[in-house]
Amino acid sequence: MTINGAHPIVLTNTQTGRKEPLIPVNPGEIRMYVCGPTVYNLVHIGNARPAIIFDALRRYLEYRGYRVFFVQNFTDIDDKIIQRMNREGWDFDTITATYIREYRKDMQALGVREPNFAPRTSYFVPQTIRFIQGLIEKGHAYASDGEVYFSVPSFADYGALSHRKVEDLQAGARIDVDPDKRHPADFSLWKKAKPGEPSWDSPWGSGRPGWHIECSVMASVLLGDSFDIHAGGNDLIFPHHENEKAQSESLTGKPLANLWLHNGMLQMGGSKMAKSVGNIIKIREAVQRYGSDSLRLYMYATHYRSPMDYSEERMDEWKRSGAKVKAFLREIEEALEETTLKAADDWLLEKRADLTKALDDDFNTPKAVALVYETVKELSPVRQTLAQPGGESRLRQAYHLIKNEVGDILGLFGDTSEESGLETPADDTSDFDSLVDFLVRLRDRYRSEKNYEMSDVLRLELEKLNIKLMDGNDGTRWIRS
Ligand SMILES: [Zn+2]
Repeated sequence: MTINGAHPIVLTNTQTGRKEPLIPVNPGEIRMYVCGPTVYNLVHIGNARPAIIFDALRRYLEYRGYRVFFVQNFTDIDDKIIQRMNREGWDFDTITATYIREYRKDMQALGVREPNFAPRTSYFVPQTIRFIQGLIEKGHAYASDGEVYFSVPSFADYGALSHRKVEDLQAGARIDVDPDKRHPADFSLWKKAKPGEPSWDSPWGSGRPGWHIECSVMASVLLGDSFDIHAGGNDLIFPHHENEKAQSESLTGKPLANLWLHNGMLQMGGSKMAKSVGNIIKIREAVQRYGSDSLRLYMYATHYRSPMDYSEERMDEWKRSGAKVKAFLREIEEALEETTLKAADDWLLEKRADLTKALDDDFNTPKAVALVYETVKELSPVRQTLAQPGGESRLRQAYHLIKNEVGDILGLFGDTSEESGLETPADDTSDFDSLVDFLVRLRDRYRSEKNYEMSDVLRLELEKLNIKLMDGNDGTRWIRS
């Protein structure tokens, strides 16, 4: 279970269309950014797909020995939010706080872990203004009548991610071309305030950030100019990710992310699940009806890049399949006094190798799920296996494999509904410590850039957590005060 295993982790990079090895920017550490929800309604199970898949990828990278910094934002400035505010008379703070809270509840119900950082767009407006100013200074953006646009022709690499040509975009541009734009493909970085909209002061007048710039800003503030993985649904490739990439790389001159990962869409009756199509099922409805394990198993059964179709029949099947594994685990718990693994034997090592081989290869979760079912089949019925020589040891290995390895990575089989005695004690401080390490390094970076405003903000926030910083020649150390 070492990072330098026999086979490197490879993942399909949307930009090249090829499987590429995951080579961390900083050894031993993976920084990843996943585009989060726009907080204006309850999310549906189409949104559960990236949440579950990239949560599992994060867990797997940790299993493989990496420290993972996982950022997923809340988009709380957006047309859809404003439309709902105006239509139903909500105020900005109430609508955004409500749906952030409800999203968190849904994720908890799905067993999706909280990100290390869950920034809100509206908290990053000053940084956004600075980012846009930087783009204007470098000739990649221009202001026009209270709006600021990104100049698409100024970024030679535009279209590289989504494999589009700027000329084609121009040809496809609609007739209602904005007269303020220099090129039809140019897009808004800053939108001029309209009456009844939340707005902020800026050098270009009152207004708000455009959608794409928000992610560029939060990613760069929290993860740096270049990080390892940028992920999201494949409906975000164009224009959202193409634009994020153009903005960030124009400003920094560095690749924004080494790997761009995209999950396929969840469909129902052959069309993408979307509020506008009217074929949505809310996450909480599905969890209530089938349980989170069934929903997770169903998502893992298809490779994350492929489209998949939702049907009640399929969900019923996965509910039964999940129950089968839990019954197997329960039988082991009943047959053995305690299920602790004493030592891993060749059988477990071989299964573990199969598991990592599958997940290292573009995160092949269907194979990982199949491994669980092969194991259940191989060792059922439990009483019969137990009666054989070495049977007890084999059952312990299988229990450990399914519950503590595959189960932990894929967030499955947590509740076999009976005490197993195998619960790993809660890892009380290590997550917190990694986070503090990271914040301290971020502060160091601000200090080296002489951005004392941000470095002081971080020092004060850390003090609130009773973290005392000691600046020295070889970097900053910290202790609990
Ligand atoms: Zn984004």
